[in-house]
Amino acid sequence: MSTYTRRAELTPEQLRRVRQDAKRRRVLLSLGAPSRTNSIDEVQRHVRQLYFDRGIPVSAMARQSGVNRDTIMHLIRGFRVVQGERVPVTGLLRSTLDKLWTITPDGASVDGRRRPSHGTRRRLQALCALGFDCTWQAARLNVCPSNLNALVLGTRGRQFVLAATAEAAAALYDKYQHVDPRDVGRGERQIKAAKTRAAQHSFAPPWCWDEDTIDDPNAIPEWTGACGTARGYAIHMRDRIPLCQACREIRRKKDGEASVLDPDKLASAMAGSGIGIADLAVSLGCSKQAIYAWRSGDYVPRSQSIDRVARALGVRPADLLRDRAQSRGEL
Ligand SMILES: [Zn+2]
Repeated sequence: MSTYTRRAELTPEQLRRVRQDAKRRRVLLSLGAPSRTNSIDEVQRHVRQLYFDRGIPVSAMARQSGVNRDTIMHLIRGFRVVQGERVPVTGLLRSTLDKLWTITPDGASVDGRRRPSHGTRRRLQALCALGFDCTWQAARLNVCPSNLNALVLGTRGRQFVLAATAEAAAALYDKYQHVDPRDVGRGERQIKAAKTRAAQHSFAPPWCWDEDTIDDPNAIPEWTGACGTARGYAIHMRDRIPLCQACREIRRKKDGEASVLDPDKLASAMAGSGIGIADLAVSLGCSKQAIYAWRSGDYVPRSQSIDRVARALGVRPADLLRDRAQSRGEL
């Protein structure tokens, strides 16, 4: 990250350079050839596209263009942080702008030092499921925690990872997959937070993978030994293992045929009974957000929940369900 020094703290040598720069800019400006430009929208779009859509890391763009990586990151974010304040990026040196336009997806990606990220992501997710939190992982791998977070969640276009990071993550996984986080000094609170996070995002623990599957992009984690089948779904239910992606889809298919809550019917049943969101949440013992989500159709409740909602509203469960033809049509 670039650092900012107050003017009063500059050394005489730095101060001289600052004054020289200011003078040069004034001269250029008076000549009608400003070295900076404010039309950065197009180049910003170009760089963001490479970053978010093509998954090209900032370091690769910096290597290819010769532009400082902080400058590129600031342009992608649209701001930089100066003494804790966000300062919008409104202009660039023309020379920088020209260099940024030279970045191409191919030029930036053919360095042979990157690998597809899913194997690394699965290993870090598995460690998280054991209770090793992202902060701890980031410190071991010597990467920035927010970067690691994006890698673990697969956000911000993280399709590739540096080979060095991939190897470090594999070594970390091999070393700690059979270790209790308490033995390396993690506190109960940190362990619990990591496990909660893993449960929220269905991170598969190490025993769901083996050496052959963890790097295979098409492999699915084996939580039950029969995931992706009706038997796998039954084992999840029987042993109270959190549902995995493959089995959740099986359930959704089953539910699609049986019972899907109709958000409009829920809204009218609530209006009809005079029971508001807050009251319904209290009587079901769930959060208001959950009911908002059901009513807006963002989330489909389980069929057991639909029965309880119907009971609380004094209607038949069938009165809250979508019409058969409708639910089949959408699947
Ligand atoms: Zn499963």
